[in-house]
Amino acid sequence: MKPRRFQTRVIAMMIAVVAAAQLATFAVVTVATQRAVSSRLEQELSVGHRVWEQFQQSRSEQLLASASVLADDFGFRAAVASGDAPTLRSALGNHGTRIGADLAWLLDRDGRWQASADGMAAPATDVLAGLTRQAAQEGVALQTVVVENALYLVVMLPVLAPERVGWLAVGRRYDDALAQQYRSLTGLEAAFVTTGGTGTRVHAATLPAEQRAMLATAWTPGGAQVRELAVGGDHYLSDSHPLTRGDDARLVLLDSYDRALAPYRTLRSRILLLSGLATLLAVGVAVALGRGISRPVSRLAQAAQRIQAGDYSQAPASGGSREIVELAGALGRMQADIAAREARILHQAHHDGLTGLPNRRHAYDRLQAAIDAGGEVAVLVMDVNRFKEINDTLGHAFGDQVLREVARRLRGALDDTQLVARLGGDEFMVMLPGLPCEAARTRAQALWHALKQPLDLSSTRVGVEGSFGLACHPQHGDDPDTLLRRADIALYDAKAAHGGVAVYQPGRDESHLRQLQLMTDLRQAIAGGQLALKFQPKLDAASAHVQHVEALVRWHHPVLGPVAPDEFIPLAERSGFIHELTRFVLDQAMACNAAWRAGGLDLGLAVNLSAMDLLDADLPDYIEQKLAAHGVPAARMILEVTESALMQDIEYALRMLHRLKACGVRLAIDDFGTGYSSLAQLKRMPVDELKIDKSFVMQLEEGSDDAVIVRSTIELGHNMGLSVIAEGVENDRALALLRHYRCDMVQGYLFSAPLGSADLLDWCRRREAAVPAGDLTLETDA
Ligand code: C2E
Ligand code: CA
Ligand code: CA
Repeated sequence: MKPRRFQTRVIAMMIAVVAAAQLATFAVVTVATQRAVSSRLEQELSVGHRVWEQFQQSRSEQLLASASVLADDFGFRAAVASGDAPTLRSALGNHGTRIGADLAWLLDRDGRWQASADGMAAPATDVLAGLTRQAAQEGVALQTVVVENALYLVVMLPVLAPERVGWLAVGRRYDDALAQQYRSLTGLEAAFVTTGGTGTRVHAATLPAEQRAMLATAWTPGGAQVRELAVGGDHYLSDSHPLTRGDDARLVLLDSYDRALAPYRTLRSRILLLSGLATLLAVGVAVALGRGISRPVSRLAQAAQRIQAGDYSQAPASGGSREIVELAGALGRMQADIAAREARILHQAHHDGLTGLPNRRHAYDRLQAAIDAGGEVAVLVMDVNRFKEINDTLGHAFGDQVLREVARRLRGALDDTQLVARLGGDEFMVMLPGLPCEAARTRAQALWHALKQPLDLSSTRVGVEGSFGLACHPQHGDDPDTLLRRADIALYDAKAAHGGVAVYQPGRDESHLRQLQLMTDLRQAIAGGQLALKFQPKLDAASAHVQHVEALVRWHHPVLGPVAPDEFIPLAERSGFIHELTRFVLDQAMACNAAWRAGGLDLGLAVNLSAMDLLDADLPDYIEQKLAAHGVPAARMILEVTESALMQDIEYALRMLHRLKACGVRLAIDDFGTGYSSLAQLKRMPVDELKIDKSFVMQLEEGSDDAVIVRSTIELGHNMGLSVIAEGVENDRALALLRHYRCDMVQGYLFSAPLGSADLLDWCRRREAAVPAGDLTLETDA
């Protein structure tokens, strides 16, 4: 059910209260009126009764007196004595009329009827019996009797001469005139009634004819004397009394309620009118009051609904009572607090706590908006070079300061239409809307310079450099994800080139995605049996005997097919998987070497180490343990480390080389000539072998630059007491030159491509059989 409105309730309650009060007043007045009227009527009836008694008394006395006078009258006694019926009748008639009687009878001495007055009613025997009985007992009888349907007050007394000679009965009628007379004295309606076998009979009354009939049915002798009586439409309080002692004829007195209530009726209608007015007034007041209370409340409710819907623009309207004003004030403060808190939360959701810059999410949305707006958008992704190092060596608090300063500088170098955001960690994004790619690159260079200025942070002066990757809309992508990813790839390229700014190169994304996939898949490659080893022989240049074999790893990807080590080794280094890979190669290669050894072939085993392996402090122990386990002599193990790997951190590399050397293995500098090592550095390294990179060997021609490099390298190596090997020997001319330069060992497709373990064994056996000694040109496979 819908809750009723407050105002409606107030109005309903007010009306209910007022109406109840009016009703109560009305009820009280009505009851009080009723009581007052009832008691007044009772009183009037009792007064009326007393009046009647006196009235009846004097009437009876009068009748008795008249009757006595008549009985004493000489003429009358003479008529009685005559015994002549006509004389008697006329005497009774004359005398009776004189004393105002309506009835006159004469009875003989024994009470037998003798004569009635002329024109007057004759008695019934039962009436005479009653009268004579009483007269005999009391001397005189006084009774009310019915004669010929009329009601009479009758007195009977003896006629004495001086002996009793008869009885005289004289009566007066109870008629309407008597009733009227009584009413004029008391104001009460009166009726003379008898009750008997045929019910109530009204003999005379003040009432009009039709009401008499109704009274006859309404009034019964039983029950309380004083009672209410409805006669026709009129309402009376009635009382009744016997007309004379001991008979059924009664006087019924009626006092009209309607008459008595008449003055109160006007009072009651006035009260009703007043009640109605008061209720109307109450409605008016209630409506006004309800509005007065409910309007500010509903205004506040509306304000609360607005707040709920997130509209904080309007202050809640105040007005009305003090409490309402206070409530409106509190609501207003609450609204302001919520708005502030929401703004703060919104800001936090879109901004980075450390630098105050927009965060990745916000940057993403802004980038999307800029793309949607059309036109060119340049996206720069930047990170701080060697930030991890700064964090690790100078502490995180310092790192945070660096990030704040970087943010400040980037922001300071840009205008308001351009966005700087922090993507996370030390990675920032700059969005340059409306800038063509070339111009954006120039801006990026400027930013790079701005960052390069040394930072003065809490008494430490540090140089910070950044790398920037740039991708442009629409050339490089038309959605934020693509643009950000490609800018990130460009950033990676910039880092690979040791800082600065790089623009995304089309196609890099695809190779980047391939790299990501390879990096992920590589982790399953060992367990999945996808990695295998090939071995390529390294031959003694002079004797053409196989001295060593170099283990080269192969990866057959289940979907992409063969993947070259040049592609996946750098990925293994980046993902940290290289340690596992190197251990796998070492273990497998040693296992194969042990197998050949068991077959009577003593070959030196060369394994490539990557730059990252030099950081693996546990590697020397692993190698020693595996050599022992497979029974491979340490002296027959050669570890090839590229020149560039050694140059990355020369001191650390030296320490590692010494530890490996201590295991008893041989060490070779791989890809020599590509890593810019100095003679001084070379001198400090405990190596046994220099391996000239195939890039110098493959196109080796007499008199070429390569020839000069190769020749001087061989001489340098020999001067330092090192054995020199050339890889990538593909033709006889190169071989001839190398021999001429007194190179110690040769390796290349001219002799053999890398082979599987079993093929290598075959190859070695065939070769030993075919070439006992000497001419290498005949011994090649080519
Ligand atoms: P690298 O150490 O310089 O190995 C020699 C590479 O030259 C091998 O390529 C070999 O197949 C190739 N080669 C040999 N003779 C000739 C020739 O006459 N002409 C030409 N054009 N190439 C020749 P591969 O096997 O593809 O290996 C490439 C590089 O991958 C290796 O260069 C090495 O740096 C790395 N690598 C291979 N296996 C491993 C490994 O197990 N561990 C590590 N860390 N690196 C490895
Ligand atoms: Ca090598
Ligand atoms: Ca090489």
